[in-house]
Amino acid sequence: MIVAEKLYLKPKTIEEAIRFAKQYENKFRYLAGGTDVIVNKFQGNDEADCLIDLANIDELKQVVKNKNHLKIGSLIRLDDLKIHSEIKKLFPALLEAAHSVASPMLRKTATIGGNILCENRCIFYNQSEWWREAVGYCLKCDGEICIATGGKKNCFSKFVSDTAPVLIALNASLNIIDTNGESIILLEEIYSGDGMKPRKLSRTAIIKSIQVPTKEKQICIFKKLRPREAVDFSSLTTAVSKSENGTIRIVLGGVDPKPILVEGNVRDDKKELIKQAVKKARIIDNDFYPRLYRKEMITVFLERSFAELEKILKA
Ligand SMILES: Cc1cc2nc3c(=O)[nH]c(=O)nc-3n(C[C@H](O)[C@H](O)[C@H](O)COP(=O)(O)OP(=O)(O)OC[C@H]3O[C@@H](n4cnc5c(N)ncnc54)[C@H](O)[C@@H]3O)c2cc1C
Ligand code: SF4
Repeated sequence: MIVAEKLYLKPKTIEEAIRFAKQYENKFRYLAGGTDVIVNKFQGNDEADCLIDLANIDELKQVVKNKNHLKIGSLIRLDDLKIHSEIKKLFPALLEAAHSVASPMLRKTATIGGNILCENRCIFYNQSEWWREAVGYCLKCDGEICIATGGKKNCFSKFVSDTAPVLIALNASLNIIDTNGESIILLEEIYSGDGMKPRKLSRTAIIKSIQVPTKEKQICIFKKLRPREAVDFSSLTTAVSKSENGTIRIVLGGVDPKPILVEGNVRDDKKELIKQAVKKARIIDNDFYPRLYRKEMITVFLERSFAELEKILKA
């Protein structure tokens, strides 16, 4: 159902935002760049009638380097990540991933925090209200069956953030504030794997910053499959990282309701690690590309990524 917002609030501090969130707990949505929230509202996929706009909170716009981490404020716009020389120097794959999101104009508005939390997608769900009504809706929007699988229990809408797979491969964590105070959580732990409710954060939680470890040097290779080189969401995103201590992290996006993570070591058989990643991905036919093609492309992308890593390490 399309619900226009009745209340628009613009707090200046995190504390004020949390206060508003507590007051309107069951009917609000935080707004950052709005490139996901507003489109979902227009399509009738977001019924929040109170928007709490975080745009005036300067504390969320800082990039700070300490002894062990680079802390990236959640409100940094995707297009502005490249301004920060430390990000450019230490995490070029993050810039590549951010640059692959949507289109130039959207990246000037969209934020990194919003990208990590953007809603899961499915070709049977991201449609107009009358389209979804005509097919009788689905599990994610008041219907009784999943149109893609015919099942009555599980929704496999795709996790589509492009920056999150790279950040998870780089072992990033989130600095979160909610009504219970401040906490740090590994990024991969906020995703539930349930396409209907893909995230496990509390209702009032605000991502303050994303912390990426800097103590050990990490190399990361990013790849994205999509019909066109701009605007289209991911049909498959891969990020493969290797850290100085030999840890390998493979992360997949676009092929499951949550990011798939496989951890290994440089001494492990790469083919086995790739097999594990393919096996974990619960891909269904809810994308522009067929399921089998996307499944095969996981192996293709991961083999290419390992070859590129090898080349960089030898140079
Ligand atoms: C045409 C089009 C193409 C797109 N293509 C891509 C793509 O290729 N890849 C991709 O990943 N995305 C894509 N997107 C989705 C979206 O633009 C991006 O994910 C964007 O980064 C979202 O950021 P935002 O700041 O606009 O988020 P918003 O829309 O403001 O918010 C998104 C979600 O995050 C929550 N949120 C935002 N910031 C915080 C915070 N600090 N703390 C707590 N909650 C917060 C909001 O409540 C909301 O649930 C596309 C969108 C459009 C319209
Ligand atoms: S996977 Fe099924 S239940 Fe989930 S959004 Fe798509 S059609 Fe709906």
